[in-house]
Amino acid sequence: MKDLLVMKFGGTSMGSAERMMGAAALCEEQHAKRPTAVVVSAMSKVTDLLLDTLRHAEGGDTGGVERNLVELAAKHKICCDGLLKGAARAATQVALDEIIAEFARISNGVLMLGERPPKSVDEAIAVGERLSSTLIAAYLSAKGIDAFAVNAREILVTDAVFGNASPLIDQTREKAQAILGPALEAGRLPFITGFNGATLDGRATTLGRGGSDFSASILAAVLDASELWIWTDVDGIMSADPRLVNDAKVLGEITYREAAELAYNGAKVLHPRTLAPLMEKGIPVWSKNSFNPDVPGTRIVEDSRDSGRGPRAVTSMTNVALVSLEPASALLSGTKVMARAIDALAATNAEVLAMTSSSYRQNFCFLIRQSELQAVTERLEESFSLEFAHGYMHPIDVDLDVGLLAIVGEGMKGLAGLAGRIFTAISREQVNIIAIAQGSSELTIAIVVRKAGVEKAVRAVHAECGLGG
Ligand code: ADP
Ligand code: ASP
Ligand code: MG
Repeated sequence: MKDLLVMKFGGTSMGSAERMMGAAALCEEQHAKRPTAVVVSAMSKVTDLLLDTLRHAEGGDTGGVERNLVELAAKHKICCDGLLKGAARAATQVALDEIIAEFARISNGVLMLGERPPKSVDEAIAVGERLSSTLIAAYLSAKGIDAFAVNAREILVTDAVFGNASPLIDQTREKAQAILGPALEAGRLPFITGFNGATLDGRATTLGRGGSDFSASILAAVLDASELWIWTDVDGIMSADPRLVNDAKVLGEITYREAAELAYNGAKVLHPRTLAPLMEKGIPVWSKNSFNPDVPGTRIVEDSRDSGRGPRAVTSMTNVALVSLEPASALLSGTKVMARAIDALAATNAEVLAMTSSSYRQNFCFLIRQSELQAVTERLEESFSLEFAHGYMHPIDVDLDVGLLAIVGEGMKGLAGLAGRIFTAISREQVNIIAIAQGSSELTIAIVVRKAGVEKAVRAVHAECGLGG
């Protein structure tokens, strides 16, 4: 579709009736100029609330489930009352109640079973986006705009890795073009749920926490959009997390590769997998602030003159786990152990944040997100069950008291002395370095330290590299 704009609004941009009106105004403005498709997140904190409800249900806590259902309904009713009047309000409230009733049914199922089957969890937590898309589409329809809500379950086809699914691009393209294409041609304005999808045989899936960015980039790619705008609550992608570093500055332009590295290494402003679908087609992305829409934000493109020399940003993550594997017998090939471990990681769609090996005995370790730890260790236990049983491998060692620091920039390549300066800055803060990884592309230096030292190290590196505003 020619000149299509895909926009995505995050949880805070959808967080109240007032915020939704702001988002709707931005949609209306763009829709008046060009074909526009919008992907929305759930209202902020709603996905957490849904997950918490399912945890109460699993634990048999009926009271906890009921309290959360009341909170969920109230939050959306207040928003509906703030957005709509009269018949439109009544009709939308009925639609919201039906979606909430579906969620209540799944929660009751979990209560009865005493467990949370991953398939049911994915169906249940997609409810947040279904509610928010229903609200904003109804609000604009009531204003006379031809807006409508779409459940991405109908268009976004994924594999069956529940909770962390990956898109099947060709099948998604086919469905998205068949369902959204004619509507866009007719000048309609779709509001598509972020975060969720379904397998080819129709089972509900989700793309991982924060996955609405990824939904938007998948749809932008399959609809051949000319741009993707991601609306959030900060002025763009910054040299560090502004919550950790006071003088973090907004980056005017960065490359896909830089943005992807920042996202993978903890810059929450973008879901890690967002850039991949867009890079091949060179679709530019803007990260913009819905609270401050006049500021241009950050442009993410294939090549950027801004990249210059040296690092551009530093990110960190603390919800990570350092997993170490070590053969106990010299008969076991360390290389084969690595190969099988990587296979196990791939089978769970887990993302390796850093991987290092330095000893001749091929002890090797990798860093993953804690959210992926259980799936990974289960898979490793299964894959090496014989070796563990016969004592050919030491038990898997998991260290949770660690954090990751990543320094990113295309301009770091070939810059002698940079690593030395970074390590010196970190050691001045009395923070010990546990593991280091830098690929030969020199795009990122990843450093694993004790959790307590992460924030100090981020500030020290940000200052040492002169990244602040
Ligand atoms: P949304 O709900 O819009 O998807 P998120 O909360 O997922 O928004 O992401 C935006 C948040 O990311 C910001 O409020 C900011 O605190 C955090 N953040 C972390 N690192 C960075 C960074 N390098 N640049 C900008 N924001 C960052
Ligand atoms: N609502 C989902 C979450 O909170 C997806 C998103 O907001 O991107 O994880
Ligand atoms: Mg997000």
